[in-house]
Amino acid sequence: MGLRLVKRPVTIRMAVEGNMVEVHVEERLDPVTGTWSRVGPHRAARETWGQREAQGTGRAACPFCSPTLYRATPLPQIFVGGSAAVPNRYPFARAHYVVVPRTSAHVTDLSQLDLDDVVNAFEAARRVGGKYLYVNMNLGPHAGASQPHVHLQVFASERPTNAHRAMILRGRAFRERTGVDILRALLDLELEVGERYLGRFGDAEWTAAFAPVANGEVIGVVEGPNYVEGVWRVLRALSSAYPGHGINMAVFPPHRHLSGHVRAVLRLPTHTSDVGFMELLHREPVIVVNPELHAGLLRRYLA
Ligand SMILES: [Zn+2]
Repeated sequence: MGLRLVKRPVTIRMAVEGNMVEVHVEERLDPVTGTWSRVGPHRAARETWGQREAQGTGRAACPFCSPTLYRATPLPQIFVGGSAAVPNRYPFARAHYVVVPRTSAHVTDLSQLDLDDVVNAFEAARRVGGKYLYVNMNLGPHAGASQPHVHLQVFASERPTNAHRAMILRGRAFRERTGVDILRALLDLELEVGERYLGRFGDAEWTAAFAPVANGEVIGVVEGPNYVEGVWRVLRALSSAYPGHGINMAVFPPHRHLSGHVRAVLRLPTHTSDVGFMELLHREPVIVVNPELHAGLLRRYLA
């Protein structure tokens, strides 16, 4: 049988300042690699970090500060405490929200947030709902953020993302062979070895990655609902230990073959990108941050 070109059109409708707006995304399956891409040309109109800064850096110019947020972003909006989840103006999924942990102040640094803000933000994200719900963050221009106001991004998917699917398949094979969750086994191994283990915070246990997907990768394995405090502590430790660096984070929901877990990585603030042909085309990251020294540094900020 020949190859097939599989694409799934996604139409997203939202109300923007009183007008109904429709955007179109296509999920396309690469017939050679078997991985999905999302094609959404409307996202080319997204503001850049530099354009945003050129318009001013304070509350008045910020689309994520109240009350501008309520007026300028699409409906429907979700509020939990001082946090708000609002539809992303440039979505790449049917349910794709921006979650602003605190809208009452122009928060540009994780240290300006308290635990309540982060707990509220994760609750607002949870209420978006969906089969596979991913909570994510790009922090800083080096990490791909276009807005300086600290925010999460949450999107729902009918299928696991490429990276999640690959882990689920390995998790299933491991569980069939051993009866144990592969991430639980990883944490037990890291605890035993001791070189990269970071600790337990609430309902999650954390380690620096042995073979990082990007510099400074940390992994948190979630075992209960109270894992957000650990996310907040570890992200603050990363940003304190590496000032000026960007951070990318993704929370992978639990699956019957794989525990829910969090991964976060650093993005180096060099003037050239830390993503090149090895990372993008060979999928074989070249890492410069030593994982064991990284864990030692983070432990000092987590103590
Ligand atoms: Zn703001």
